[in-house]
Parts: sequence; C-alpha cells; structure tokens
Amino acid sequence: MAYPQLLSWYRQNKRTLPFRGVQDPYAIWVSEIMLQQTRTETVAGYYLRFLSRFPDVAALAGASEQEVLKLWEGLGYYSRARNLHRAARLILSEHNGRFPRTYEAVRALPGIGDYTAAAICSIAYRLPYTAIDGNLTRVISRVHDIQEDVGIPSVQRRIRQLAEENIDRQNPGDWNQALMDIGASICVPGTPDCARCPLRDQCEAYRQDDADLLPVRAAAKPPLPGDVGVALITCGGHILLQQRDAAMLRGLWVFVLNEGNNTREGMEKKLKSMGMRALFSADLGDARHVFTHRIWNMRLYHFTAPAAAPVKGGRWVDAEALAALPLPTAMKTARQLAMELLKEE
Ligand code: SF4
Repeated sequence: MAYPQLLSWYRQNKRTLPFRGVQDPYAIWVSEIMLQQTRTETVAGYYLRFLSRFPDVAALAGASEQEVLKLWEGLGYYSRARNLHRAARLILSEHNGRFPRTYEAVRALPGIGDYTAAAICSIAYRLPYTAIDGNLTRVISRVHDIQEDVGIPSVQRRIRQLAEENIDRQNPGDWNQALMDIGASICVPGTPDCARCPLRDQCEAYRQDDADLLPVRAAAKPPLPGDVGVALITCGGHILLQQRDAAMLRGLWVFVLNEGNNTREGMEKKLKSMGMRALFSADLGDARHVFTHRIWNMRLYHFTAPAAAPVKGGRWVDAEALAALPLPTAMKTARQLAMELLKEE
C-alpha cells in the first residue's frame, strides 16, 4: 500500500453520514445510486426516507414505480430510481431476494456501473475493487501528476491501474471511502487544501506545485438552451397532467408541454393538434430549468377547458393528486402556480 497514512487518517477524520458504517449491500447500493450526480448533503434526507419506506429489497420490489418516483422527486436523474426498482425486482426473481455477492453479478444489475459495483463490493464484502469516480480520478491524477486528459480511455486505464496497485486489500472499502472523502473535502477541484492532506508526502502534484491545474480535462459542452411552452389547463377544480414517455423524465408527470416553442400561438396550435378545446386565460410568466445537457426556457400559460375531455397519456387531477404525483423539479414553478389556480377555482 503506497498511501501509508490514508487509513489512519480516515479512521480519525471520516465524515459522519447516515450511510457510513453500513454493511448492508442493499443500503450501500441505495446510497451510492443517490450519490451519483447529487450532493451528499442533499442525499442524506432522501436516503433516510427511502430506507424507512423501503427497508429491504423485497419492500422496494413490492412498491409501484410511481411510489418510488414520488420518493425520488427532486433528486433528478429519474432513470436511477427506475433502475433501482427494476433491479430490486430482478434480485427477487433471479437471486431469491438475496443481494448478489460477486462483483460480476452486482455489475450485471440495471443501473449499476463499474463504480457502483466496486463501491458495494468493497464496502459490503471487502472485495478489492477500486471505486473510480470523479473524486478518485482527481486525487489519483494529482498524486501521480498525470498531465494528460483524463477523458481519454488509455489515461483512464492508467488511473485504474494506479488505483489497483495502491488499494489496501485488507480494507478496500475504507480505502475507497477515504479517497472519496479526500476528494470531497480536501483535494477539491481548483485549489486543494494540501496542508490537511494525508497523501501529501506521496503527492507528485504537491511537489511540482501544479495541483490546481489537474486533472486535465477537455472542456465540457455547455447545455443546449431550448424554448418550452407550458400550459396549465384547468377545468372545474382539476388540472391536466400528462405522463412523459420520452426518454428524458420518462414516467414523471408534467403539464402540457410544447417543446421547441414557448409562444402563446405555438401553444394554441399544439392544443388544437391534440384535439383540445381550451380558452386562453392568462400569461403566467417565465421559468427556467437547467439540466445537465439542456436548458428549458419556459413560458407558462393558463387555459380553461369547458370539459375534462380524455387526453392521450393524460389525467385530470385535483390539488391533492397534483401534490401526490411525481413531477420533475423543472415543473416546480408550474406546480406552485397550478396549486394557486386550483385554490381559486
Ligand atoms: S497533497 Fe494536495 S494535490 Fe495532493 S492529493 Fe493531497 S490535496 Fe490533492
């Protein structure tokens, strides 16, 4: 093990998180899936609520997808929740409800990639797999002063090899978590806090004084902006929602959207094409939501319908159902306005 102070530092300094010290592979799995793309502070509350509602694989497998999505509401990247649910059902049907115990079987579950399989197996089963995510990549690229773009596959392989050479085979879970903590709180992007770092004696970037330039990464493409019209269509204390079947936000409920055009005329045309009879009532202003690859520049409109006619993939809901169904964060402003409209009706 070439990072000699790492584990003793971890024992004294590890972050106290609700999912730390947990050995149950199911709970580790849930936390690791939530932690992908989401800040640790945000995950803590969601994790506790999720585990209290679905304490084990059987409870998760027995729930409806809508219930799982509702508990996930606000965390984003909803395919994670759908995959968790699908994987729980697979564990029940193909593994007799027992969480798989080998890396290959864990890795084969939906939504589990190399990182998550390694995290689960190293923490729950002490198998010596390195959990390489953005944090580990940054720390290792600095300790070994890697000057090439870490997005290149051969550079990624080198980082993995260096991690594998240095992992503690007795305590692989602690080793991975120690590096995760260092990456999250000390060896942060930009200027790292080397004075507090247990890897300083081994760190080549510290010695070369170039840590703030690492890791080298090609610039990410900025998210693409697009206009989206949003229609809040009310009728007698009910409002129209549609369930998404597009890959993005699939399974979640949204108001009637006109993607690519946020003008009132565009929305009126869209409603006509749906066979909807609805009268324009008010322009409710703008809202904006930034996804990883897209930005929705939304304009919100209120329409009233003379009758709650059936709409493909749609449901007319009252205020209570509107609060209970899973809606993406992009609909937050629209939902607040919809609640006010329903109160007035
Ligand atoms: S010494 Fe500095 S650059 Fe090197 S791993 Fe530690 S925090 Fe990162």
